[in-house]
Amino acid sequence: MRMSSTSLKHLIRPLVHQLHAYVPGEQPKVKGLIKLNTNENPFPPAPKVLAATKAAVDGRLRLYPNPTAEKLRAQLAKLHGCKPENIIVGNGSDEVLALAVRGFVEPNSKFKTENSKLTAAATVQYFTPSYSLYPVLADTHGAAKNAVPLKADFSLPSVAELKKDGQWLFDAALALVTTPNAPSGRGYKTAELEKLCRAQKGVVVLDEAYVDFANENALKLALKFPHVLVARTFSKAYSLCFQRVGYFVGHADLIAALDKIRDSYNVNGLGQIAAEATLAALPYYRANFRKLIATREWTSRELTKLGFQVLPSQTNFILLKPARFSAKEWLARLRSKKILVRWFSAPEVSAYLRITIGTQAEAAALVNAVRQILAGK
Ligand SMILES: *Cc1c(COP(=O)(O)O)cnc(C)c1O
Repeated sequence: MRMSSTSLKHLIRPLVHQLHAYVPGEQPKVKGLIKLNTNENPFPPAPKVLAATKAAVDGRLRLYPNPTAEKLRAQLAKLHGCKPENIIVGNGSDEVLALAVRGFVEPNSKFKTENSKLTAAATVQYFTPSYSLYPVLADTHGAAKNAVPLKADFSLPSVAELKKDGQWLFDAALALVTTPNAPSGRGYKTAELEKLCRAQKGVVVLDEAYVDFANENALKLALKFPHVLVARTFSKAYSLCFQRVGYFVGHADLIAALDKIRDSYNVNGLGQIAAEATLAALPYYRANFRKLIATREWTSRELTKLGFQVLPSQTNFILLKPARFSAKEWLARLRSKKILVRWFSAPEVSAYLRITIGTQAEAAALVNAVRQILAGK
């Protein structure tokens, strides 16, 4: 029996019906494109990671994986100087971010707006622009959103500035801070993050998805403040997007709360094996970080010479205001030269292009394509 899809609307929660889902960057079907749009690492996983993953593909696939990613958590605890109880692993850091919203934020904010205290308890707070998943997580949960603008140069407002401005809620149930920032690439000093954490009453998540390309990281704040969690991922810096492994580091009580609400086998077995092998091959990745940072600086210099306004970056991508044509137009023109970059329609970044740093050869092809477009070719 066939029914028209509109007739099923009554079966779906209004919240879900109205939801604007997260928009992922394009994974193109056409071959031969230089893909600089989703901040993937151009280098493959270390040979030992590929070997370990391949070696695990056998009859064991019929078994459930370790439910708590026990071995991986032990290795991560050693790496970060904490205990396994301070770590929860997820199906990508996207999953642990979603767990934080579900674990710390009251839903159904619209029933509670009369009492400001309860409103804060139902609020997911973040700066704009930052990771575009955060509002989707809040909406999915039925929580309120408080999106507070960064400064014009995408730097972090100081605590004094936030207090003076008044929009930032120091008692919001959950504050999500992308550091270094995406999509601007701007890095934040641990000292300024510490001041923000100190002033915040609710849970603070420092989302360090790109931190391996930055000058400093704020992991120590997760070990110092009981209400601060640091999110890390194997996706970007460790060339493992496909496997979906990310984690939180933080106080054992918060971690235990999230552990209660996660799916029983949330981290797939091959992902655990790949992540474990990754931690045994860190020098390989650190060499890649150095290459990507050198290419980032080279690309920034070359595009600046061509009249682009390139923002300083501490990530594996750059945000820039292009010369001559609008950013949206550049997106199309570069695509016709087989180079895929990212453009966001959100007003605070619509004048910019975001370009992932690939290999040096890909960067050279990009700069070449930009030269050709500027020369009218
Ligand atoms: C990519 C990204 C993530 C998600 O990473 P996964 O571990 O692949 O889910 C989280 N936060 C930010 C800011 C990101 O850019």
